[in-house]
Amino acid sequence: MTNTSPKHTEPLERTLYEQSVAGRRAITLPKADVPDAPLPDAQLRADNGLPELSESQIVRHYLRLSQMNFGVDSGFYPLGSCTMKHNPKINEQLARLPGFASIHPLQDAATVQGALEIMHGLQEALKEIGGFAAASLQPVAGAQGELTALLMIRACHADRGQAHRDRILVPDTAHGTNPASARMAGFLAVEIPSDARGNVDIDAVRAACDDRLAGIMLTNPNTLGLFEERIGDIVELVHAAGGFVYGDGANMNALTAVVRPGELGIDVMHFNLHKTFATPHGGGGPGSGPLGAGARLAEYLPGPVVEHDPAADPRYRFARPERSIGRMTAFHGNFGMLVRAFAYIRALGAAGLRTNAADAVLNANYLRGRLKSEYPVPFDRLCMHEFVSEGRPEGSSARAIDISKRLMDFGFHPPTNYFPLIVREALMIEPTETETKETLDAFAEAMLQIAAEARDAPEKLREAPHATPVSRLDEVKAARERIVTDRAARGSDGEIG
Ligand SMILES: *Cc1c(COP(=O)(O)O)cnc(C)c1O
Repeated sequence: MTNTSPKHTEPLERTLYEQSVAGRRAITLPKADVPDAPLPDAQLRADNGLPELSESQIVRHYLRLSQMNFGVDSGFYPLGSCTMKHNPKINEQLARLPGFASIHPLQDAATVQGALEIMHGLQEALKEIGGFAAASLQPVAGAQGELTALLMIRACHADRGQAHRDRILVPDTAHGTNPASARMAGFLAVEIPSDARGNVDIDAVRAACDDRLAGIMLTNPNTLGLFEERIGDIVELVHAAGGFVYGDGANMNALTAVVRPGELGIDVMHFNLHKTFATPHGGGGPGSGPLGAGARLAEYLPGPVVEHDPAADPRYRFARPERSIGRMTAFHGNFGMLVRAFAYIRALGAAGLRTNAADAVLNANYLRGRLKSEYPVPFDRLCMHEFVSEGRPEGSSARAIDISKRLMDFGFHPPTNYFPLIVREALMIEPTETETKETLDAFAEAMLQIAAEARDAPEKLREAPHATPVSRLDEVKAARERIVTDRAARGSDGEIG
């Protein structure tokens, strides 16, 4: 059962510095066919101490490091709220086409009509999926989408003579970026508790609906993986009080092509292309957090956006929405991600996206059903694409982190830990639609075995992981006393200090 592939059990390879041999080279430069010219002194350093190595030493070193990593392409990655789904490889091929990869952001729009067509197509698709009047691809992360939307809300209130509206309601299950974005946009974040069913407490929302209300940030499904059952009432309360409803669209994997947030009354929402639309994220690639907006906020969207006029020449051009809050990123964001997301949406079509959403929900409910006897689910109702259980099996004193570290010995990436904050020892599990039943079963078996160990052999958990290149780390020390260069860590004897 335990994953003991050799790459996990061999000792760490010697560092490149330890392998260095004076005079060894990885490449031989061709003889210069131009006259020698001295390099500027300031750039020549005799003391840089770089290792001297052959090409195969370098290749093996980095390949080996890459194999110590874990990603969606190496194993099951049920990291809740992150949607770590399969990233189709055809999207990589498309993003690498020279016509996309080799263009320059300062090129004249007439020479990059294909790229603009893709951007326009993606804007249109996100409008359709979200039920919005307009979309902007500017924000380069979900968190930046949040900030951007709140700046739009602020600008709109100011235009209406409502600049005194300074409060944003943020549910206690919200992602940490929500209150941070509210603060960065110049608002006060007001925490709203959850009720016994894991919904936003509607009475608390009602009580906070006064003339200082700027808006609410709603994640639906929320980070408990639950559909906000009274979303209609919340939207109505907030709108009646003169506020806007911001949608955190990070969890759109459960709703895509099933529910249009704009039709639920969401005024503006970010999409995470690197979650819902299968573009790589984490170490695998940069993010993208486009916004969709309803009619009341559309003109405040950041620009440039791409407009299409079939009668004009060129047909696609950049434009700035009427009352745009301006740019949020240099040029046009992480363009390669836009190509990948567009390819994904077009390859699946509405029916495929809908099937994916349904399968994501089915898989999460299957795992919830298999695990909840050992890992209690405090808000236990039909979940969407993820669920949150307690990482403390009955009769044990295990902690979520122990369960997670032990899971690594079975070759699985741990779920999200200790979030949302309202579930003790939270384990937030999101299997996604792209896993087979065999994988889900293997994960469930591992989790159930770990629960038994938590009672019978708790030290096995406390000391885990056992099969990884590096065992349990002191994560607090690692964060507080960061060593960011190789040389700073190395004493004169070459030992890591
Ligand atoms: C991931 C996530 C975000 C932030 O998105 P980034 O792209 O990581 O900045 C916001 N809210 C929720 C619920 C998320 O899961």
